[in-house]
Amino acid sequence: MSLPDPALVVLVGASGSGKSTWAASHYRAAEVVSSDALRAVVGSGEHDLDASSDAFALLEQVVAARLGRRLTTVVDTLGTDTARRRAWRDAALAAGLPAVAVVIDTTAAVCRARNAARDRPVPARVLTSQLAAVAATVDLLEGEGWQVVRVAPEEQDADRPTAEPARAPVASAEPSGLHGVVLQLSRFPAEGDLLTWLRVMAAAAEEAGLAGLALMDHLIQIPQVGRAWDPIPEPWVTLGALAASTTRLQLGTLVTPVTFRAPGVTAKAAASLSAITGGRAFVGVGAGWWEREHAAYGLGFPSARARLDALEQGIETMKALWAPGTKPYAGQRVSLPETTSYPRPVGDIPVIVGGGGDRTLRIAARLGDGCNVPSDDVGLAKLVRYLALVGQTGRDPATVHATVLDLPLVGRDRDDVWARVERHRGRTPAAAFAARHHAGTATEHAARLAGLADLGITTAFVAPVGLGGPDDVLALAPLATAFG
Ligand code: GDP
Ligand code: MG
Repeated sequence: MSLPDPALVVLVGASGSGKSTWAASHYRAAEVVSSDALRAVVGSGEHDLDASSDAFALLEQVVAARLGRRLTTVVDTLGTDTARRRAWRDAALAAGLPAVAVVIDTTAAVCRARNAARDRPVPARVLTSQLAAVAATVDLLEGEGWQVVRVAPEEQDADRPTAEPARAPVASAEPSGLHGVVLQLSRFPAEGDLLTWLRVMAAAAEEAGLAGLALMDHLIQIPQVGRAWDPIPEPWVTLGALAASTTRLQLGTLVTPVTFRAPGVTAKAAASLSAITGGRAFVGVGAGWWEREHAAYGLGFPSARARLDALEQGIETMKALWAPGTKPYAGQRVSLPETTSYPRPVGDIPVIVGGGGDRTLRIAARLGDGCNVPSDDVGLAKLVRYLALVGQTGRDPATVHATVLDLPLVGRDRDDVWARVERHRGRTPAAAFAARHHAGTATEHAARLAGLADLGITTAFVAPVGLGGPDDVLALAPLATAFG
């Protein structure tokens, strides 16, 4: 069962139906607001009926405050008070959250038996009227606009919290090409042995069944990721080290700015990487965007138009040098007196063009082997445009790499997810941060990525928020299977 999240979730069920148990197994304690629990806070105990009005006043305040922040809110009451229920629904819709009613469909006999076994059972006639009120409420829910979910008693047992499998089975042992999940490493340890760290992370990526490892190509750590004095090693050197400790992973840049190196030199580095890895190299390439790193390293930073011209020339140059033979090359934009380049790459080296400007997409469609855009809605729209452009060039869109850059927040379970949201959100409101990074468990991310695969996306470059050590990489194993 998959419920929308964030959402308002209102439980409907008689005493003993299992509402609180169901809530505890699906949500964090802080997400559940329970009239019984609040009676115990402001009264003598969960069943102190004299404390009801104080408890409900607090409950209303909690519901309003959480929904106002777009935080998931599970209301654990009988759910049969029509006026309150409709007000909660209205508050959810005003906050832009879906309103879900979860009906706990436990039989009357089971509710009675469980009630009788309690320390302070509700009187039998009260339970009878609760059961009648629940039945009447169920008839109203659809008409009130709730998304109704029924939890049957059998499912409740099957549905008990299960620990997320730490490691899904490793996918195929064969290199998968660039198809699947490629881990992008963007942060590196400032202390300790960098080579050992790289080896451990790469081993974890292989064990998790990921398709590859990608490195950013920046001369100074970018502000989106860290501080200027955080280490960011040169990618081709680092990929060479990774080549020595991996056997399956595709290795490449995401992305290398065409402004950094003459494209022939990049072609040489990538061909060498391909040769020493048996054909596991790819080149992500872009026009470059960060003026500061160019200035600091004494590199020119021409106009956007000139950089895009250079991107076209760069891709053409690399492809000319990788092509068989040594003959002269005379292309549209580039002429080379010879194309003598050894060692030869093993197989084709995919060129993935990063960036979402329209000219960049056209360059990717005409000259590249794939594109890379963010996995948000704007990026996905660009990807659709890219695939259409590929079709217009007469190429089969099924043969290109339609790739996204995805920045997921991945946690072991709901509590861990939320702890990570709090740790990393900075001053961004928690709900907005969680939404931006699709905060969830690996299983939830796998389902989301499978949806991207259905759109024709072949590859997700994944840079998890706050990626720690190898355990965080191993936890990505369920994602590896999302692309089939
Ligand atoms: P509520 O009054 O609707 O909140 O019901 P509770 O969640 O407190 O559950 C009442 C009793 O039923 C408790 O003793 C639970 O342990 C038990 N219970 C709840 N859900 C299940 C279930 O799915 N299977 C079984 N076997 N017992 C359950
Ligand atoms: Mg309860």
